[in-house]
Amino acid sequence: TSTGPRVLYWFRTDLRIHDSPALHHALGLNPSVFIPIWTWDPHYVYRARVGPNRWKFLLESQQCLSERLTELNPRQKLNVVREDPTSVIPKLVRKWKVDVLMFEKDTDAYARSRDEEVRKAVEGMGVSVYSAVIGRTLFDPDELVKHNGGQPTMSFNQTLKASSQIDPGDGGKKGEPRRCVPTPTGLPEPLSAEEMDLSGDSEFRHEVPEKAPDFNQEHRGETKERHYEGVAGPNNDFAVVTLEEMGIDSKLAMSPHKGGEREALRLLKTYIDNEEYTGTFEKPKSSPADFEPQSTTLLSPHHHFGTLSIRKFWWDVQEVFEKRKKAEKINAPPPANFPGQLLFRDMYFGAQAALGYAFAQTRGNKIARFIPWDLQSNHSDTPVGEHLLDGTYNVNDEQAEEYFRRWKEGRTGFPWIDALMRQLKYEGWMHHLGRHSVACFLTRGGCYVSWERGAEVFEEWLVDHETACNVGNWMWLSCVAFFSQFSRMYSPIAFGKKWDPEGDLIRKYVPELKHFDKKYIYEPHKAPIADQKSWGCQITGDGTETGTAEMAKYPKPMFDFNEKRQFCLDKMKEAYDAHMYGDDKRVMSGEWKKI
Ligand code: FAD
Repeated sequence: TSTGPRVLYWFRTDLRIHDSPALHHALGLNPSVFIPIWTWDPHYVYRARVGPNRWKFLLESQQCLSERLTELNPRQKLNVVREDPTSVIPKLVRKWKVDVLMFEKDTDAYARSRDEEVRKAVEGMGVSVYSAVIGRTLFDPDELVKHNGGQPTMSFNQTLKASSQIDPGDGGKKGEPRRCVPTPTGLPEPLSAEEMDLSGDSEFRHEVPEKAPDFNQEHRGETKERHYEGVAGPNNDFAVVTLEEMGIDSKLAMSPHKGGEREALRLLKTYIDNEEYTGTFEKPKSSPADFEPQSTTLLSPHHHFGTLSIRKFWWDVQEVFEKRKKAEKINAPPPANFPGQLLFRDMYFGAQAALGYAFAQTRGNKIARFIPWDLQSNHSDTPVGEHLLDGTYNVNDEQAEEYFRRWKEGRTGFPWIDALMRQLKYEGWMHHLGRHSVACFLTRGGCYVSWERGAEVFEEWLVDHETACNVGNWMWLSCVAFFSQFSRMYSPIAFGKKWDPEGDLIRKYVPELKHFDKKYIYEPHKAPIADQKSWGCQITGDGTETGTAEMAKYPKPMFDFNEKRQFCLDKMKEAYDAHMYGDDKRVMSGEWKKI
């Protein structure tokens, strides 16, 4: 038996056993005791920022991880601890006499401050903390920033250049991500059941608020009475929580996208086995209207939860590229190919790592161009630490508020937009170009509403929500940062038609319109009344009236797109001419309103 340290391994967004550098490092310490835990992160549990579909994905991923750990050692499993890590980890370290705390490095602003708090508390108790290794991205975002002159990575080329100077440190070439580490073949022993038991200790009896977030509500911040018993759960066995226990209505968690390492590896294998698909994949050529199956990999939620190693994806694709090169077949070029897409992801992580909390909002953010949207951000209900700089410059334009609500609820009267927003709400995912369409429409290409409002909706509903990617892409689409050609807009009619002339996506997600002739499917209000009647849907109202089983109702467009297009173009030009950024003192003080 080992005389090595007692290791507490804290799983977070690395819910896998394959290619996990942090896990590899932890096992390399030859622990005498190994305790794998997942704690109730405030991000997930105490603030209702996570919709039912992402909860489902997370719980499936935890369940799968737990089973994988048991495969490696029948006495091991994932131990879910029902308390905020900043308070519970120091208590567990003391109770379980831990020598080493190990977790993967995370450069998200929130994660950095959470991890620092835990580190300080635990080091003060004489315990070693290891968290240097990064597994979430191709390259360490801090290294990218360092090789980009200390600045946020703002373009693909900057990211490529910075990454080309990074030595992977494993004998590989500069500019290549580190090679995958081996999958463990066994695990050290856990603590004995008696030592694990927390039930007799009042410290662990309970801190969780009785009023917990209501995950079934669309409005964040609402709470309902619920009582969680004990840090180790009602059966005192550290089991993975169920949707039922969380009070989540399973009817709201109907996403077909399944979590877990096994599912991630299965999906990856289907793409890697299909060499033609992987070798020729070019993102801009993939259709936003494909849904069964979708045209892209749908690996993004697995990257977020770490059920798939980003580097395994990268290296497996390289192998396909090599094979094809030998067979003299042409591979798609970056940035549209898979390695290019992954480097794009790293670009947003680099930008976030350089800017910290300011990255996720306009106020105080030096890269975010200030645009006087008709509906500004609203951070008044945001917990401290999440958005350190509270936005105080709300403009409450009722019309814009109504546009925002109708966009969110998929009742704008533009069937392409509504179909995509309903796909997001029901299934938690949408194709990249679909995201382009709805984000452009909400911001600079229609509603003239702040990108921060849209990003919050995505944050709640996406199964693949990743702050760096979500915020970065919203800034891109709204021409606030990364991209500035605001005259290039997506028409909510012509763009959809180009990809899906039959309107199949609309027929699936806006079933009220499923019998409409393709001539009218993108603009159903133009169909003659008699046709509307024979196709079973009247085009009227604002989308709040339901209609009957025989005669459904669907709204007219909430505005004339061409008029709003011109309005947005004029406003964007004015805003660009003003050259104001989020860290401008006029923005910080709210003085911009007088300008
Ligand atoms: P694939 O096309 O198969 O790409 C492979 C992988 O590359 C993805 O899994 C993803 O990890 C990465 N990737 C591809 N494109 C991007 C990109 N533009 N930015 C960052 N990474 C990329 N992606 C998220 O992972 N989380 C988000 O919260 C998120 N929010 C977005 C919000 C908006 C407004 C927009 C326009 C895009 C957003 N994206 C986000 C980026 C992109 O849409 C998704 O990564 C992609 O659609 C996921 O599907 P996929 O796995 O099938 O992608």
